[in-house]
Amino acid sequence: MKIICIGRNYVDHAKELKNPIPEKPIFFIKPDTALLRDNVFYIPPFSNEIHYELELVVKIKKVGKCINRKFAHKYYDEVSLGLDLTARDLQRECKEKGLPWEISKGFDSSAPIGEWLQKANLSTMDFTLVKNGETVQEGNPSQMLFDIDTLIEYVSQYITLKKGDLLFTGTPKGVGLMTKGDYFEAFLEGEKLINLKVK
Ligand code: ZN
Repeated sequence: MKIICIGRNYVDHAKELKNPIPEKPIFFIKPDTALLRDNVFYIPPFSNEIHYELELVVKIKKVGKCINRKFAHKYYDEVSLGLDLTARDLQRECKEKGLPWEISKGFDSSAPIGEWLQKANLSTMDFTLVKNGETVQEGNPSQMLFDIDTLIEYVSQYITLKKGDLLFTGTPKGVGLMTKGDYFEAFLEGEKLINLKVK
């Protein structure tokens, strides 16, 4: 199983990190060891700047390659929320040197994931991240630069999607620092899917 993550899929987030707006989807992969189903995340010793990025996640339900966007909706029917945790300090260092930034995105437990729901009308699914009782991120799939079906079409041209693969679809603006003692809750359509304590 693999975790495919889309970068810069919301204009406001690309702008907040001073990144250009992409003309094509950008993706990277996290290994399966990044998945965190537990309710506790431990800040790793190698970073002083772990950022949270709340994202809508879909679970691929059957194998597919070169999927036409018209049929992409047949490849997923469960959705959840996930946090694409990023060691921003390491990522900055890699970017400055023109190196791949896997180290900042693929580390153990860098992908906390919530409970799964059956997909309904995705375009109306608001999602929210609350940090220590205060809302820090709000998003809706309608704000995506590339919608989920387009992302599936694009990624599957290069990489075969398999049953159980997860697609993280990018984060809206409001990403920020995670520190010891923080408590995060993530809601999809008002339903709480993630509870995460940071230690
Ligand atoms: Zn992300």
